[in-house]
Amino acid sequence: MHDGLLATLRNRLTNSAFIELATVLSLLQDIAPTVHPDDRFLTHGVTFSAWCAYSLLSSADKLDPHSDHIWSSKATIKVKIFAWLLFRDRLNTKANLHRKTIASDSLCPWCAHHPVDASHLALFCIRAVQVWHLLGLHPPPDIDLIWTTVTPNGLDINI
Ligand SMILES: [Zn+2]
Repeated sequence: MHDGLLATLRNRLTNSAFIELATVLSLLQDIAPTVHPDDRFLTHGVTFSAWCAYSLLSSADKLDPHSDHIWSSKATIKVKIFAWLLFRDRLNTKANLHRKTIASDSLCPWCAHHPVDASHLALFCIRAVQVWHLLGLHPPPDIDLIWTTVTPNGLDINI
């Protein structure tokens, strides 16, 4: 089968792709598929499941000051995951895309000379400030202080 695959791909591969393919085939040569199940585990030997992964994510993380606020909120799961990614700086902001050489620059299209990182996206961009003001709120000076934001009556941030 490998010969058939190589015969099909050989003329289309770049030199680096050819080297990568040779490396992969070399790594695979000693591996034989088995009929045994492929067991995956989370930390502490817990068998992997989506429920276990969510429980692990949503458990109180003493190293992450935002974890309890995010996962105990009544926001939808999409909002919780967005917030979790935001505080871990894992969103595809222009700064992150530029660091991965996906974007040609990291600058905000609205603010021009500021790189779009998580803080800029959520707090400092002129568009973000407009949203904060439409909600009747003032953005905190630092993203780590977002949970201390003073909210109007009836709009409790910790609900
Ligand atoms: Zn901006």
